[in-house]
Amino acid sequence: MAKKKTFEMPRKSCFDTKDEAWHAESFAFSDRYRSFLNISKTERECVASFTKMAAEHGFVEYVPGKSKKGAPGYLFVWKGKAVALHRPGKQPAAKGLNIIIAHTDSPRLDLKVSPLIEEADVAQLKTHYYGGVRKHQWLSRPLAIHGVVIKADGSTLALSIGSSKEDPVFVISDLEPHLSYQVQNDKKVTEFYPGEKLNLVAGIIPDADEKAKNRVKLAVLDILHERYGMTEEDFVSAELEVVPACMARDVGFDRAILGGYGHDDRVCAFTAVRALLEAESLERGGVAFAVDKEEIGSVGATGAGSAFILNTMAEILALEGETGDLALRRAAENTSVISADVGAGLHPDWQEVQEKQNAARMGHGLALHKYTGSRGKVGANDANAEYVGRIRRLFNEAGVPWHVAELGKVDEGGGGTVARFLAAHGMDVVDAGPPLLGMHSPLELVAKCDIYAAYLGYRAFFERLL
Ligand code: MN
Ligand code: MN
Repeated sequence: MAKKKTFEMPRKSCFDTKDEAWHAESFAFSDRYRSFLNISKTERECVASFTKMAAEHGFVEYVPGKSKKGAPGYLFVWKGKAVALHRPGKQPAAKGLNIIIAHTDSPRLDLKVSPLIEEADVAQLKTHYYGGVRKHQWLSRPLAIHGVVIKADGSTLALSIGSSKEDPVFVISDLEPHLSYQVQNDKKVTEFYPGEKLNLVAGIIPDADEKAKNRVKLAVLDILHERYGMTEEDFVSAELEVVPACMARDVGFDRAILGGYGHDDRVCAFTAVRALLEAESLERGGVAFAVDKEEIGSVGATGAGSAFILNTMAEILALEGETGDLALRRAAENTSVISADVGAGLHPDWQEVQEKQNAARMGHGLALHKYTGSRGKVGANDANAEYVGRIRRLFNEAGVPWHVAELGKVDEGGGGTVARFLAAHGMDVVDAGPPLLGMHSPLELVAKCDIYAAYLGYRAFFERLL
């Protein structure tokens, strides 16, 4: 007897809907992502990687007032920390663009402006955490320092210490269980390790001068000067990010998960950029944005709340001869956006924080979030039903694995994305990205099939959404 037709929404994992060849592709694609992730541990390193990828596809760097129409694509680099890649479509940009926007900043520890101290004969580097960090996850594990230093003479020093095998690493050494009874054990997890104790061990050899003060600190400064030509004051004009030293690894016997630092949100930035570069033909102009500062509220000149988004659109219109403000506003109103950001996958051990019918699931493809926010959708974009309808149809027609998701149970917590900052210009925006386990931890988990589903979904968006 034939199976009775039902009208239930299908809820299947990619392992039940896609064949072996598809999954082999997803593993191969994830290896390309792994290579990117391992050399892109800061937003600046992401910009460098995307610049290289764009150049390989014949993109030219956009120069305001100088660049001309006719290139295969244009690269907009903003202050070294945010980037946009644009491919012109058959339609003029004035009729609207298809935009995918992701962020490349990830939770981490930043070195303080004056970080170097000495306590108990140990030189330490003080930090100030960036974004939603669970402090205990950063203790007693190998850490690296990546970033830039602008020296007194204005020259730039790019630093990366700890990610190569031969490099030393830095460690925030947690207290041993033997001595933590009074000061840690009965404290709440948010309080047992105060932010001011998140200090990296940075050296123990003292300066030879026995009469000097802070001898270990002085000796470390000597090393920094000898090796990098740095002085203590150079830390003031620096952006040095403390990130996990380890590289991305396959997780599990079946190797179907990639564990790594910064999937939030580099997995979306990478898949969006690759989708734009590899899309076959574009009816509408496409833009992939990779912006900074999402983890601290999309603030600053390089965040999604800045003028970078609309300024880039204005430059794209200028390339096509449109320079008026009204044309820009109309183009924005006719623009469609995917806010590409990760979701919280249903955790096998903590299912009680999710509402299962509306939870993202590992291995089920792109998680489509109509809204995010917390305590009554506050801070959400909450996409129009009409627009969600178009995106749903697009994914179904293109055979993209996707499912519906909320960030968690009502009243359990929540969070926001860049979506609302683009919606403020009148654009249609919806959130869609792969689910993670352990979001914001130093070792986030993402399913390889979900990485590939994101790529396919974003590519379909650039190729097909009219
Ligand atoms: Mn994110
Ligand atoms: Mn995040």
